[in-house]
Amino acid sequence: MKSTRNEILRNISGSIKERNGLTAQYPLYRNRLRPIIISLLVCVLGLFFFGKIVYARENVHRLKSYYSLYYRDSGFQNYSNDAQRHSRNDAYPTGIKICLKHQPEGMTGTIQYQANISGTGWSDTYENGQSIGEGQDMPLEGIRVFLNGDLKDKYDVYYSTLILGEWQPWAKNGEDSNPVGVGKHIDGILITVVSKGEAPVEEKAPVEEKAAANVGNSQIDPAKPMVALTFDDGPGNYEDRIVAALQKYNSKATFFYVGTQATKFPSTVKRVADAGNEIGNHSYKHENLPKLSQAAIESSINKTNEILRNQSGQSVSLVRPPYGATAGSVKPALRATGQPSILWTIDTLDWKTKNTKNTVNVVLNQVKDGDIVLMHSIYRQSAEAAELIIPALKERGYQLVTVSELAKARGITMEAGKNYSSFRPKK
Ligand SMILES: [Zn+2]
Repeated sequence: MKSTRNEILRNISGSIKERNGLTAQYPLYRNRLRPIIISLLVCVLGLFFFGKIVYARENVHRLKSYYSLYYRDSGFQNYSNDAQRHSRNDAYPTGIKICLKHQPEGMTGTIQYQANISGTGWSDTYENGQSIGEGQDMPLEGIRVFLNGDLKDKYDVYYSTLILGEWQPWAKNGEDSNPVGVGKHIDGILITVVSKGEAPVEEKAPVEEKAAANVGNSQIDPAKPMVALTFDDGPGNYEDRIVAALQKYNSKATFFYVGTQATKFPSTVKRVADAGNEIGNHSYKHENLPKLSQAAIESSINKTNEILRNQSGQSVSLVRPPYGATAGSVKPALRATGQPSILWTIDTLDWKTKNTKNTVNVVLNQVKDGDIVLMHSIYRQSAEAAELIIPALKERGYQLVTVSELAKARGITMEAGKNYSSFRPKK
């Protein structure tokens, strides 16, 4: 026991001696090695940052496409950049041109494309900036885009078309963008060039986020009463009156729009949205959804989402099923599209009575904190009623908010496929 302890002590003192020896030599050791270590460090850091700069520059200047569609009424549109959606809902394109930028030096090849024109079929092959279809009147049914030369070996080109409000799955390197010759035309294109083997990524338009940030009221007091006014079946001719009344009293509302109506009044949707109101989906053509198959419901809803999103710059998160009908496949369909059903607490029956005074009285006699009020934006009497209801509710201390704001203020995260008809305060 004792000898072991002595051994340990010896070992310890030995290692202390050794360490002292090293310390004695250390200044020399440090003086010789320090410059080498420092220069090594500088080299490594330099390579690291240089690499970053080169990488960043390559990223900015990587091979990209840009493109434009031609419309009979307005000619070629402003170019859209690589990976950005390029579309209109109120007219169909009859021509197209696609260009490349940042082509690496010394690399041969360019971007080439064909368009399928209704009645004539696939066009000849055109390339980099040449226009197809300018001056002809038939809609485009599809596109094929491909690279040639060295570019073909280093890059893939992906593209998608918008048909009946739905962006089609990606096609690549010369495939047909979508089935053609089936009596459908394209309403938009989305093209992106990526390094060989890379997956295509769509770039979200920055305008979308900007507009979305405008939606709703800047200040809501969650402790004070609030009501969500909702207006269905438009857009129509009375939005400007309703929006003006809302603006006058710093208020917002939710407008549930029908897809076919929206295509008739695209600028109205934008004005309503730009004033900070929420845009919701009221189906494509006011179908009684429970009578449709789940696929048909999803198609009606998706098509309308796309139209409203394009027109308003907002993402459309709410659905009001026509007639409040949520039986059949409506719930599973909305679970698939990721949206809740917004019903109502107070039905003004404004569409039936077309009586301003009655509509005002129904609201003012029944209203409670957290209610959703159903009105319609396509009748003059409803707009007149809104002009009276908005100041009267404000007078009573109600905040007039969008449906999404009301849910949020009450701490409810809405679930897809679920029905909501009020958001009362928690007791
Ligand atoms: Zn309706």
